[in-house]
Amino acid sequence: MPDPLLSVRDLRVDYITNHGIVRAVDGVSFDLAEGEVLGLAGESGSGKSTAAQAVLRMLGPPAVISGGEVLFDGRDVLAMDDAELRKFRWREASLVFQSAMNALNPVITIGEQLTDVYIAQRVATPSKAEARARKLLELVEIDPDRMDSFAHELSGGMRQRVIIAMALALEPRLLIMDEPTTALDVVVERDILGKIKQLQQQLGFAVLFISHDLSLMLSLCDRVGVLYAGKLAELAPAQSLRRGGQHPYTRGLTASFPSLRGPRRVLQGIGGTPPDMRAPPSGCRFHPRCPDAVDQCGQSVPSVTPLGHAHLAACHLLESQPTETGA
Ligand code: SF4
Repeated sequence: MPDPLLSVRDLRVDYITNHGIVRAVDGVSFDLAEGEVLGLAGESGSGKSTAAQAVLRMLGPPAVISGGEVLFDGRDVLAMDDAELRKFRWREASLVFQSAMNALNPVITIGEQLTDVYIAQRVATPSKAEARARKLLELVEIDPDRMDSFAHELSGGMRQRVIIAMALALEPRLLIMDEPTTALDVVVERDILGKIKQLQQQLGFAVLFISHDLSLMLSLCDRVGVLYAGKLAELAPAQSLRRGGQHPYTRGLTASFPSLRGPRRVLQGIGGTPPDMRAPPSGCRFHPRCPDAVDQCGQSVPSVTPLGHAHLAACHLLESQPTETGA
């Protein structure tokens, strides 16, 4: 196995609030290979966006990375000084934000914003920067004549394409996408996701994709991690999760949306609501909502157990199961 491009180990992130410390990410670990598309799925408050932003050290107060390790190509991101961090962000790993309208400056043309990336990072002179910016727009299939447009003059889909172009400006090896299609309608969403997949195959960058939409993740990603209340519940190849997953929470999620190709079935939801993270449940955090919970579940935290090829889950019921093969 080659070394992973990104290795996150036992990551912990706290929010320091007036009501105490809230641990939003609690001991999450995952690897991401060069050119791989890994999804992190979960409900609001599961810690997925916090974990992704911690990878780029984008979190400000009241969030604090309180433990763990983030290695990018073997280098310790959490130990980088400001100069190293500036080079790391955008050149090696960049972020596509949720809302393109908020991420773009409304009073500067998109052409200026794209050329600014090259000038600020000192990788091109102003004239060369403009030529590169025009090429970037072509890459995301926007007419370069739109360089003089302002964000409000573009459709939602075009704005998101500009943000993707900006993130790819310095050809990073890792693109983190935090709910990149949330504000878009489903037709534009499919169009944007198709474009991301095409660019990923064309340019070979790895993607860490964050979404609450597990069905979307399963169609886009190579592997998917499911987070619940700040902890990793299951991590597996998308192909395995399409069959329903093994963790009760993943099974609940996959039973909540219809299959486009499979037989019609009654959809099931997951009862209850996500826990208050100021006082999460003891033991397995899913136990108050879990249909399979046993006495042990409220008493001890399940360990992350390997279930076979690239497949992990944290559930007491799976701790003694034989590992699967050929997942
Ligand atoms: Fe459910 Fe228990 Fe497994 Fe948690 S450890 S998912 S409560 S069966």
